[in-house]
Formats: sequence, C-alpha cells, structure tokens
Amino acid sequence: MTSPNLSLMRCTHCGKIHEDDQCEGPVLKTEYEYIKFELVEKKPATNVWWCVNKKSDSWIGTVRWYGPWRQYCFFPEMNTVFSVGCMKDVANFVEAAMAARKS
Ligand SMILES: [Zn+2]
Repeated sequence: MTSPNLSLMRCTHCGKIHEDDQCEGPVLKTEYEYIKFELVEKKPATNVWWCVNKKSDSWIGTVRWYGPWRQYCFFPEMNTVFSVGCMKDVANFVEAAMAARKS
C-alpha cells in the first residue's frame, strides 16, 4: 500500500503543495505600496519587468538581466525620483527575482 500524500510535501521553493516535478517556482511579490512590477517579457532564462508608479500609472524603470554583472539589475528611467522606501521595494524585488531564478 502506498500513501499518495508522501510525495506531496510543502515545496521549499514556492511554499505550495504539489508533485515533485510540478514546481512553477516562487511567486514573486509584484505589488508594493507605491510601485508595482509588470512582467513584460518571459524568456527561458531571464525575465523583464517594468516598474510602474501605481498612482500615476507611469513607467519609471525596468528590471532585467545585466549580462556583464550576471545578475538582475534595475534600470531607472530618466528624471525619476525614488524614496528610500521605494528603493527598498525595488531591492527586495530584484533579490526575489534572483532567488527565483536560482531555484
Ligand atoms: Zn514548488
């Protein structure tokens, strides 16, 4: 007799319960207090997100893979201003994107 529940442990990658081979990776938190991140390009290895001001709905930057540094980086648009809080949100998002990629 086999227990069907044995293989359904909570996944350490995404925190969900699923079969071993069905992990879709960690769900990135994209909504923050004043900004949000929109997935605009999904590539096999790396993704591209736009950083958008939630209040004005304006595009204020891009998170994408920067080859020379081999990491996701934030590319701010010209003449944008970021508070410390928003910079922390951007930093958290970029770190989460890096973590999601490694798993
Ligand atoms: Zn998973």
